[in-house]
Amino acid sequence: MRTDLDGTLLDHSTYAYDDALPALELLRRRGIPVVFCTSKTRAETEVWREVLRNRDPFIVENGGAVFVPSGYFPAPARGPVRRGDYDVLEFGAPYPELTGALRLASSRSGCRVRGFGDMSVDQVASACRMSVDAARLAMQREYDEPFLILDAERTGQLLDAIRTTGKRWTRGGRFYHIVGDSDKAAAARLVVERFKTIDPEVRVVGLGDGLNDASFLNLADIPFLVRSPSLEQLRSAVPNGIATAQPGPKGWNEAILSVFGG
Ligand SMILES: [Mg+2]
Repeated sequence: MRTDLDGTLLDHSTYAYDDALPALELLRRRGIPVVFCTSKTRAETEVWREVLRNRDPFIVENGGAVFVPSGYFPAPARGPVRRGDYDVLEFGAPYPELTGALRLASSRSGCRVRGFGDMSVDQVASACRMSVDAARLAMQREYDEPFLILDAERTGQLLDAIRTTGKRWTRGGRFYHIVGDSDKAAAARLVVERFKTIDPEVRVVGLGDGLNDASFLNLADIPFLVRSPSLEQLRSAVPNGIATAQPGPKGWNEAILSVFGG
């Protein structure tokens, strides 16, 4: 089971998850792992793992890295870096390289942008409707820079200019993101391979609500598109996706119960 967080398991505006509790409880009872696959940072995701009592591997910053609790899989992976209690597999480009490429693309395209790196903690808190403490965790970025476009009419030129820097862009519920040669899919594929060392028959349910989820949803055996304003865009990127009737955690709950029974 792999899932996006914002707008999917967590409410887009309030970050509430109560409506997903029945499904989360069902998965816990049945011992089904829930792998968070998010644009959030490690620091933020760790908070949500605590809140949601999650002990499974997780993917941060739009596929920038996979964090696996040490000893989670019986067989060691190739090439992880040990950090604290985790084996970390990195896919993303270093953060300073991304902010540099974004600046360059902005000046080449004449399209002004505002990234997390240009914003104060208070500005990030208000843009994300989160507390100042939460914003501080969100700003501890390593592999992905979220940004707002200030000259909307030059969006196309900016995104083209990002591509010419050799970086990639994607879009979540709130922000555009510039990333290196990583996306949620490469990281998710690795996690699935690791689970296959435990159970070769493992099947994957994917849940996401944004265009940045399309790549990993396309790898899932059962991809759910959690209803959001991006649904139509996401539907064309994930032709086999099953749209939920409800948005956010209600849609998450509905999807899980439809697969695993009530
Ligand atoms: Mg989302």
